[in-house]
Amino acid sequence: MKQGDYPQALEAVIHLLGRLPGIGRRTAERLALAMMEWPEDRLQDLGRRLETLQQSVTACTCCGNLAEADLCRICSDSHRDRHLVCIVEDAAQIPVFERSRSYRGLYHVLGGRLLPLEGKGPEQLRIRELEDRLQTGDITEIIIATGSDVEGEATASYLREILRRENLTVSRIAFGVPVGADLSYADPATIAMAINTRRTP
Ligand SMILES: [Zn+2]
Repeated sequence: MKQGDYPQALEAVIHLLGRLPGIGRRTAERLALAMMEWPEDRLQDLGRRLETLQQSVTACTCCGNLAEADLCRICSDSHRDRHLVCIVEDAAQIPVFERSRSYRGLYHVLGGRLLPLEGKGPEQLRIRELEDRLQTGDITEIIIATGSDVEGEATASYLREILRRENLTVSRIAFGVPVGADLSYADPATIAMAINTRRTP
C-alpha cells in the first residue's frame, strides 16, 4: 500500500505514532494496525491514559524526576542516602541508574545540557534549584553524570566550577567503557562500574 492509502482515521493515528523517536512510517503502520485488533475497552483505556498523562505525571519539586506527587518515589524514600546527589541530564536516565542497583543516593535532573549555540545556558537548566538544595547543608557529595560527549563534558566542567566549595566532594562518573553520549543506553553493569570508579578531579 502506498503512503496515505489507509482510511483517514487510521492515517491520523499512523501519523501521530510516526512522530515518536525511532518510529518510522512502516513501524507506525504496524503499530496502528495492531491497535485495530485490540478489544475496544483496551483502546479506550489507552485513550484515557494518554489524555490525562500530563496531569498525572509531574516533575518532583525537589529533584525534577518524574513524579505522581510533590516528591518522587526516590526523594520520599527514607532509606536513600541524602548526603549524596547524582546530577543527570534527563529524568530518563534515572531508571538506568536505578537498574544498576549500585546507587543509593538522590538525584538532580538538570533538564538538558549546556548548548550555547542553541541558546541553552545555565538559566535554562535546573541550576538554581540545585543551589537551593545545597543551601540545606545536607549534601556532602555530588556525582556529575552528564554525557561523555563534548557538550556533556562542557556541562560537567561548568558544574565543577560552580560547585567548588568547602565540605562538598564533587566527582565525575567514570567513562572507562564507551558509554557514549547518552547514558540512557548503558547497561546496568556499565553504570555500576561507572559509579563505583568515579573520580574526583
Ligand atoms: Zn525527587
